[in-house]
Amino acid sequence: MSDAAALAALIRRRQPCVVLTGAGVSTESGIPDFRSPTGIWAEYDPMEYATIQAFDADPEKVWSFYALRFGALTQAEPNDGHRALAELEARGFVRAVITQNIDLLHDRAGSRELVEVHGSIRTCVCRGCGARYALDDVLRLLESSAAPRCEACGTILKPDVVMFGELLPLEAIDRAYELAREAALLLVVGSTLEVAPVSLLPWETMQSGGEVAIVNLGPTRFDRHAALRVDGSAAEVLRAVAAELA
Ligand SMILES: [Zn+2]
Repeated sequence: MSDAAALAALIRRRQPCVVLTGAGVSTESGIPDFRSPTGIWAEYDPMEYATIQAFDADPEKVWSFYALRFGALTQAEPNDGHRALAELEARGFVRAVITQNIDLLHDRAGSRELVEVHGSIRTCVCRGCGARYALDDVLRLLESSAAPRCEACGTILKPDVVMFGELLPLEAIDRAYELAREAALLLVVGSTLEVAPVSLLPWETMQSGGEVAIVNLGPTRFDRHAALRVDGSAAEVLRAVAAELA
């Protein structure tokens, strides 16, 4: 049996299936992982441009990086990996997608039960008056300013993404843990499971009697505990799995 057929059989047998995705699901959409410094991350040190401390100290400097990032993320398109997961959800094989990605590509591909544990670029918040700005408004503000400011009070907006050094949004992480506990199968796609607390979700599933399957290019921290491990690209493997389940 091929890897895709074995994974399809596991998904069929172990319901509900919850999916946990990381940067690897979006690399084929041209979005580089900060761990493999290519593209934008080759020039911008995350510690200097993507921490909450850096934002508090010099939001304009951090926006010089985020403006480029917002541009790159909004121009990227979902790939077959995102599309296959949305299709599997629509057909009842996937209950929810938990993602570490902020790029909205699962949303744009059609995933509906989506838990974004690192936030997303969907909104920015004004920490002066609490106003929220939708992505389209932020992109409009970015056309005339390198660092978008609140139109009501003038404070520089903060993206609703979790920066390094910030806590994860409590509601999202609680929901992620709940889904992991209830999953008969947690399918990890494109994550090396190195960042806590997301890296703890597979343990949550196993301690509740579920199994874990992994699709990733290269090894992950959880490989030896996984019921099935497929070394491959997210788009290729998930497209084949969706075909097997058709
Ligand atoms: Zn404001």
